[in-house]
Amino acid sequence: MDDTAAESSADFAAVPDAFQRLWTPHRAVYVGQGQSANDDDCPFCSAPTRSDDEALIVARGRHAYVVLNLFPYNPGHLLVCPYRHVATYDLATPDEIVEIAHLTQTAMRVLTDVSRAQGFNIGMNQGRVGGAGIAEHLHQHVVPRYGGDSNFFPIIAETKAVTRLLGDVRDAVAEAWPTASSASSATASPAP
Ligand SMILES: [Zn+2]
Repeated sequence: MDDTAAESSADFAAVPDAFQRLWTPHRAVYVGQGQSANDDDCPFCSAPTRSDDEALIVARGRHAYVVLNLFPYNPGHLLVCPYRHVATYDLATPDEIVEIAHLTQTAMRVLTDVSRAQGFNIGMNQGRVGGAGIAEHLHQHVVPRYGGDSNFFPIIAETKAVTRLLGDVRDAVAEAWPTASSASSATASPAP
């Protein structure tokens, strides 16, 4: 692959919009290369149909899964999504709510362990006016924070370089994720 052959962002589950001030350059990449051209394809519905490596998925539960954001605000930025294509939190079932909560807790523990995260921003943007990039499919952001992190955010122009780094992060997080037997039964992992 030559250096200019960046992977299409449409192939990843990603949310480009929140924290726009920190990550505006990637929004341009995102809009230019992917999602807008494939509006019919929901990235959060398609991601679980592919391999964990391909889709940057770090863990699969029964009702929800955890995936790296292609456009991280910080290294280790995860998204917790129900498999079901629902737009807002009030439409999630009790089972989905519980598992999203459990997966979020596990994500915090794993990121603290793997990346020495010192703090987190956790939350959901609801609706376009609420800042959701993929407003049609519910997703919870889990953004690890590190001391002084806002000072060294690089502006990485090449998507290829970003996805390479994300692959490394995915491997580390997936490896540290507790297995079904050691985690809550709510996070048992069926086969892909
Ligand atoms: Zn969807």
